[in-house]
Amino acid sequence: MRVARAPARVTRRRVGRRARGRSRDAVARAHGRRKGPRTPTVRDFTLADDVRRASDAEADVAFVRAPPNARGIARERARYARSTSTRSAVVNLILGARERERDAAAATTGARRNHADSWMRGRIFTTAGEISTFDRAMVKVCARTVTALGAFDRATARADEDAASGTERDDDDDDDDDDALVDVTEDASRAITRGIEESERLCAALPRLEEMPDARAFFAAAETALRPDAIDDDDARVDDDDPSPRRSRRRTNRAVFAALHSPSRGIYRVAANTNGANKALHAEMNLLLNLRTTSAHAQTPDALDPDTTLLITLQCCEMCAALACEFDAVVAAEYFRADDGPLARRTALQIDPHRRERAFIASTPRPT
Ligand SMILES: [Zn+2]
Repeated sequence: MRVARAPARVTRRRVGRRARGRSRDAVARAHGRRKGPRTPTVRDFTLADDVRRASDAEADVAFVRAPPNARGIARERARYARSTSTRSAVVNLILGARERERDAAAATTGARRNHADSWMRGRIFTTAGEISTFDRAMVKVCARTVTALGAFDRATARADEDAASGTERDDDDDDDDDDALVDVTEDASRAITRGIEESERLCAALPRLEEMPDARAFFAAAETALRPDAIDDDDARVDDDDPSPRRSRRRTNRAVFAALHSPSRGIYRVAANTNGANKALHAEMNLLLNLRTTSAHAQTPDALDPDTTLLITLQCCEMCAALACEFDAVVAAEYFRADDGPLARRTALQIDPHRRERAFIASTPRPT
């Protein structure tokens, strides 16, 4: 599905202030906007050491530095997440850092803005040696850039530019030990739980599963439920980049439903998009994130049926397609509406030779 990416622009005031004393390239780099791979610096490795020490875990850790506009609020230096049994550190960091912002914004009335997009504009580092297809797709849809520190030789890391020029240090001042390194791994778990609960409330607009034997029944029911007046969501706020006062208090979820269908059970699980408060919680994420990727565990509630087809009212974005392809049991994806946006092109579902993505073709006129 198409979603708004974290906006690329930076605030005018900031660009103006920075641009006077620094090259455009330095400004872009400071905001993590430079395209292409960037080799990690000595300071990146040093921060990784600090994060690893703070996390006190064998697991991989992923971290992102606090954005300048959020630093003054909570005295945070960086947020990090550990890998857990079913999720990578990068996935947990994106889910958790965003959820923490959602919670902070929800806990205050009006005064506290949600800086999730600012956080996710920073470069994410992971101590893992490689980055999975799903990690990369999730970064593309919900963050900006990611670097696997494990893929680089620390001994050859270059020194940071500020050592020579003294110009960059103020942007991400890692030396302030009073600022906290904040573990958001638990926030990621809470995001998943909250997403599922909110999704279940939205799915109450659908008939019971037994009443939806096939794709046609699901899409017909979803279309009915998707009427504008059918969804009432008051649990969403916009990010810090939307200056419109009218839109700045609430953002509703884009209405999308997803379902799992198998030959043996018909439609056996449904979920709704809840990305209004946490951009990572697309319908497919709510549908699949807490399930087992391997079908060896069939017969348990968290396993998919063999020969499952993923049904979605809007074609999968790159992130959700990559997630679906992590599941052995998903053999096909069928969408009701195509998404011609840039994030639904050449997705894992379209490239994977073992899976098929297709548009749903109704052979009879759909109910109005
Ligand atoms: Zn998606």
